[in-house]
Amino acid sequence: MNLIDGKATALSIQEELRQQIEKLNSRPPRLDVILVGHFAPSVIYVTNKTKACKEIGITSQIHQFPEETTQLDLLKTIQQLNQNPSVDGILIQSPLPSHMDTNTIMSAVDPNKDVDGFHPINRGKLLLGDPKALVACTPLGVCELLKRYHVATSGKRVTIVGRSNIVGKPLAILLMQPETGNATVTVAHSQTSDLKEVCLSADILIAAVGKAHLIGPDMVKEGAVVIDVGMNALEPAIEGKKRRVVGDVDFNAVKDKCKLITPVPGGVGPMTIAMLLSNTLKAYMNLQA
Ligand code: NDP
Repeated sequence: MNLIDGKATALSIQEELRQQIEKLNSRPPRLDVILVGHFAPSVIYVTNKTKACKEIGITSQIHQFPEETTQLDLLKTIQQLNQNPSVDGILIQSPLPSHMDTNTIMSAVDPNKDVDGFHPINRGKLLLGDPKALVACTPLGVCELLKRYHVATSGKRVTIVGRSNIVGKPLAILLMQPETGNATVTVAHSQTSDLKEVCLSADILIAAVGKAHLIGPDMVKEGAVVIDVGMNALEPAIEGKKRRVVGDVDFNAVKDKCKLITPVPGGVGPMTIAMLLSNTLKAYMNLQA
């Protein structure tokens, strides 16, 4: 077993981005983040994202709104940011409060500033293989890890477990496109009747489910590459201890069967932030062109 070190890979990508930004002749790129409410994990994510921006020379600004903000008020702010030529990237931190329609909010962001890649136009561009598309950060991060660890995808059998709009579906498209994967992709989900067989057939197995340890050793082909997107917080066995985050793959049981495997934490997670920074620079370049 060899480990795919997402943390180290993300740090080298961030250093590459820092050097590119340092060489820019005009103002630095700018990312604006909208945060509604005080959901603790969201506050941590936003803080981490803006800290990472600062480290590589991207300017960032957080727009914090109370939980009871109306959808109309949020849409007005998005319009202002869309029209502000100093803003290159706009990120709406999810989840949004239940009185807001997430699709309406995400679709209000200028597609050219949509660094999360959630706007329908960017999803369409991804389907068409447009290289200017801004693509969702986690799927991009998975592809980047495979590339940097020299995992050949062309002609290989890839199984993705999970078909969400933010991970499974865009990842399936990236990995099947000739330019970004060229693989034979199978997408499994909760209604897949032969999950074990579908997983066993994979040269590259990617789990994006949200169920701790769903993937066991009986589901992994000998010599497979395993990418675990899942992040599941386990309640501590002893009261007062911290919650442990584990993946969808039973890492200890599976690792010796794998050629390469990502850990959780320290695998795909850090890559998501690195790809957000990369998308912000890409949006900046697209807007300047
Ligand atoms: P969703 O809940 O949106 O999607 C989960 C998918 O898994 C669905 O397609 C669902 O099927 C499928 N599924 C559920 N149960 C099973 C099962 N028993 N067998 C097979 N498939 C199943 O989750 P997300 O895509 O948003 O996230 C998935 C995981 O990745 C989560 O743990 C999340 O925390 C993590 N994540 C990590 C990120 C990172 O940066 N590392 C970023 C984003 C997510 P169906 O469609 O039929 O319901």
